[in-house]
Parts: sequence; structure tokens; C-alpha cells
Amino acid sequence: MLQLKDASLLRQHCYIGGNWSAADCGETLDVTDPATGETIASVPYCGESETQRAIAAAQAAFPAWAARPAVERSRILRRWFELLMENQDDLARLMTAEQGKPLAEAKGEIAYAASYLEWFAEEGKRAYGDVIPSPFPDSSIVVTKEPVGVCAAITPWNFPMAMLTRKAGPALAAGCTMVAKPAEQTPLSALALAELGVRAGIPPGVFNVVTGDARAIGGALTSSPLVRKLSFTGSTATGRLLMRQCAETVKKVSLELGGNAPFIVFDDADLDAAVAGALASKFRNAGQTCVCSNRFLVQDGVFEAFANRLAEAVRALKVGKGIDDGVVQGPLIDERALAKVEALVDDAIGKGARPLAGGRRHALGRTWYEPTVLADATPDMHLAREEIFGPVAPLFRFKTEQEAIAMANDSEYGLAAYFYSRDHGRAWRVSRKLEYGMVGVNTGMISTEVAPFGGIKNSGLGREGSKYGLEDYLQIKYVAMAGQ
Ligand code: ADP
Repeated sequence: MLQLKDASLLRQHCYIGGNWSAADCGETLDVTDPATGETIASVPYCGESETQRAIAAAQAAFPAWAARPAVERSRILRRWFELLMENQDDLARLMTAEQGKPLAEAKGEIAYAASYLEWFAEEGKRAYGDVIPSPFPDSSIVVTKEPVGVCAAITPWNFPMAMLTRKAGPALAAGCTMVAKPAEQTPLSALALAELGVRAGIPPGVFNVVTGDARAIGGALTSSPLVRKLSFTGSTATGRLLMRQCAETVKKVSLELGGNAPFIVFDDADLDAAVAGALASKFRNAGQTCVCSNRFLVQDGVFEAFANRLAEAVRALKVGKGIDDGVVQGPLIDERALAKVEALVDDAIGKGARPLAGGRRHALGRTWYEPTVLADATPDMHLAREEIFGPVAPLFRFKTEQEAIAMANDSEYGLAAYFYSRDHGRAWRVSRKLEYGMVGVNTGMISTEVAPFGGIKNSGLGREGSKYGLEDYLQIKYVAMAGQ
């Protein structure tokens, strides 16, 4: 059973226009704990009508929210941040229960999620405009930034809290209002966030959460002319679909989609650091992050040494229920995710990959998969192109820097890339040549609220976090001030 110090954080209703409500149809959606299969809660199975109500509420709340001085919005966001931190333990428990990740990681995610609220509470006060020297004698050119209006957020299950605050933080700071739809698997974190929003003083209608039928809610959000922006984090296939759906009403879109991150280990790398970085970038959240390394490209001279050290470290990872002490890898989110990982590994082994650690379902059963290292991976294996989204590290061999760059860039995706080298010239050279939105040099951890997170190519559009993250929720107005 889920034990919380503050039981009122477990909300099982949607939050629309300042009211906690059930679905019009009366149906609900069960939320299960991936570690036990137990139903921990149920949330409303909403669709079109509830979404329209949420959009109307967000539209009604928009003028007053946008008109408030940025500093007032900032104080509310700051309080929201503090409340997340004050309730970090409960929120982490809730997250581990619905998502499966180890409790320590869940706590880390709450702090990370809260950091976006803190950051944008500050950044919202700095939505500066411009005055441009005019080519005409009697006029000034003034550029201001205005909130785009009602925003829709559709978020995934892998980071149920952080992926939402990354959107809600800048949106509310900019003066926008929001309708959020969390993933079916993990709605409880989003509803707890809404509850804390109420306590922080967010006015009714400014932040709404609708749970339920993804297609119906997504359809209503994307087709509404009142919604001026969609921010989506999830799979490339769903992102494409939503972008198409947004075309009719020409919405601003931010998409944070799939990745196929290369992790390059050059001969001159510090191997201990590379192994530590590999563990962090690959096995966090059981490999279920969009910036997880998907392909380890290892130079000939250090291939065996790196492979053996990584395999040894991976064999020592403690697998179990996220709530249990010392566990660093929980179950995968569901059976579909497990089947995908299994098929990718089987395909690779069938084509000659050598398992140095793991390579099959874990003895714990359910949706656990063994932390896995596969040597001798080759480009014809499906995992060379597809996002694994599981605890599997395939190692590819390369000989020259040029070859490594070509292999790394040979992907439809362009989210994160990592490489390890102690050569200063190479560090700059390779980072310039990698066709990725984010590059980690001698680090496997790149996520922070102060840096711009986002991809190129089929990995998406827009940036989240940093000063750039606010821009996605602002539009530019140019005023030609003549007749002076
Ligand atoms: P995954 O396959 O990892 O679950 P998705 O892209 O399907 O990734 O899910 C990310 C988010 O997109 C979730 O909130 C999910 O409910 C939502 N989603 C999936 N399909 C649709 C759709 N057709 N319309 C709107 N939202 C969708």
C-alpha cells in the first residue's frame, strides 16, 4: 500500500477550472505499480468534453494571469517550487509507485522538476524586449514579448513530474495558461503537482490537468483554435501525428522526441570516468530516458578494456523494487516495453552480438530485464537504429575519429551525444561535428534546468530550460511608433 505523510497528495480526480472532477462518462483508468502489478489508484477517463471545459477555463483565466506583473507570477511559482521540495519524500513515493524507478532517483527527479519552477520564477521577470534604431526620422521600433496564450502540454511516463514542470514553469512564468495531459501510466504525479499549485496560489483555470483517453484529449487540444501552443514530450511517431493535427490551427509547437544517443569512447579516454559516465547515461531509469546512450562506439585500442570494466560494473547493479533500499534498477514500465527490449536483444544476439552481462529477462519476473552489455554490435542490428529504452548497452567498434563521427551521425535522430577524450583539440573538433542538439564531453549527465534541452532532426523542435526555454512560450510584437 502507498503510504504518504500527506494523503491529500494522492488525487484521483481531474483538475479543471479550479475544480476536482470526475469524467463525464463516469469511467476511470487504473494506475498500477509496475513492481507489483497492484492497482494503486484510479483516475477519470476523460475525453473531448472535459478537455473542452479545461480549454475554456484556461482561456477565461488567461487575460488576468497575463496581465499580472511578472513579479507576482514569479512569487507564486517560487512557492510552488518550495512546496515540491517540502513534499519531496511523498512525491517521490508516489512516483516510484506509479513509475517503478528507484526511490533515490524519484527524489532526484522531484528536485530536478522543482528546479524548473524555481528557474522560471526568476527568468519570467526577464522577458526583455528591444528598441531598434529606426530608418525613419519620426519613429521608433519597439519590440515586446507577449505570452502566446493557452498552451497544451502532453507528457510521457518516464519523468512524470519533470517533463511537466519543464513546460508548466516557463508557460506560467510567461503569462500563459495551460491544459496538461499526463501519460496514462503516470497521472498521479501530475495531479499532485496540481494540488500543490492550488496551495501555492495559482488561480483557477491557469493550470488544468485532464487524464484519460489520449487520442480524444489530444484531438481536442490540437484542433482547438483557442489553444495557441502545444508542447509535447514523447515518441517521434506521436509527435509527428500531433504536429500534423496542429497544422490546421497553425499552433506554435515544441516537440521533444526520441533519440539514438551515441556514446563514443576514444583511445585517449579516462576509462574509469567513461565507465562511470556510461552507467549514468545508460542505466538511469532502467534505460528509459530519451537521452540514454543507445550506441556505445568504442575505439579499437580500448575496446576490450572498456567492455570488461563496463560489464563488471553492470553485473554489480542491484535490481529490484524501486522502493527497496539500495536498488538502482527497477522494472520497466510495462509488458510492451519489456517485449521490445527482449526483441532487440534477441535480434542482436542472433546477428552475432556477444552478451558480456545480462541478455535476458530477469529472474524477478514481471517487467524486469537484466542490466545488459553486448559486445560486437553491428549497424545491421535493429538496436543500431531504434531507441532501446531499456537497460541494454550495445558496444560497436571503430578505428578512426572520422569513422566514429560518421557512425554517430548516421541516425535520423539528433538529441544527445556523449564522448570521452582527454585531447583538447579533439574535444572541440568532435563536438562541432556531432549533429546533435546536446553534446556531453567527458560526462554522461547533461540535464540541468539552466541549459537548453532539445534536439535536431527527428528528435524535435524547441528548447526547454535555460533562458531559451522561456522564448517558446512568448511571441514577438513589433510596434512601429511613428508620428513623434
Ligand atoms: P510511449 O510510446 O513511450 O508511451 P507516446 O508518444 O505514445 O510514448 O506517449 C507520450 C504521451 O503522448 C503520453 O501522454 C500519451 O498518452 C500521449 N499520446 C499517445 N498517443 C497520443 C495521441 N494520439 N494523441 C495525443 N496524445 C497521445
